[in-house]
Amino acid sequence: MEILPLRPRDLLHRAIAAVAPRRRFLRHGPAGSGSACLTFDDGPDPEQTPRLLDALAEHGVAATFFVVGSRARRHPVIVRRIAAEGHAVGNHTFTHPDPARITARRLLAEVRHTGGLLADLMGRETTLFRPPYGRVSAPQLVGLWRAGQAVVLWSEDPKDFAGCSAERLRAWFRARPPGEGSLVLLHDDRPHARLVIADLAASARARGLEFTTVDRWAEAGPGPGIHHGGPPGRGGRSGPYPCILPRQGR
Ligand SMILES: [Zn+2]
Repeated sequence: MEILPLRPRDLLHRAIAAVAPRRRFLRHGPAGSGSACLTFDDGPDPEQTPRLLDALAEHGVAATFFVVGSRARRHPVIVRRIAAEGHAVGNHTFTHPDPARITARRLLAEVRHTGGLLADLMGRETTLFRPPYGRVSAPQLVGLWRAGQAVVLWSEDPKDFAGCSAERLRAWFRARPPGEGSLVLLHDDRPHARLVIADLAASARARGLEFTTVDRWAEAGPGPGIHHGGPPGRGGRSGPYPCILPRQGR
């Protein structure tokens, strides 16, 4: 098994995205959706995730959480809360290994283990998978697809994990506001993202953009899996993505 270095890997991902159905490999959302996705990796975290959920509810923003199985096992109540509040839950392995350092067999075992745990917790299976560090080899990809998983990467990475502050994150989004089809990578085991949710929600509303969940994009028809650009907010916002959650009065 060999993981390609960054640039060729990115080219490989683009090539895969161009030929794979959207429901199997996502780096962007579809054109014409009028929506963007916020995704949160590496939780659930007993301190940060509930506070983030409070912020998402307060501002009526839907999100997708890629949870680590070992953490989900320690914090089942938070996983149930994520699902109960209308967010999507995806699989982010059980121990968060670097896929470049393990076999396809081991990666699939991690995915199955976490998938079983999440199905027990939520009463339904998740088919969304995000590889740690965005690394996935061809044999791993084939195995994941055979296991019915959609592999979800991202288009925007503000690097909120890397010694960031809320102010820096806010400035990053001010310079690069999520647009139609943006798939944003954030982390719910860090304190910064929840502090910019209000700004993101206000900015999106002002531009007619909605926040949806990745499962809705994955289900959105069989078309080719990549959105190739276009100005943020272009296209109908009245498409099949009623994705701002109702305010929950908290
Ligand atoms: Zn991760």
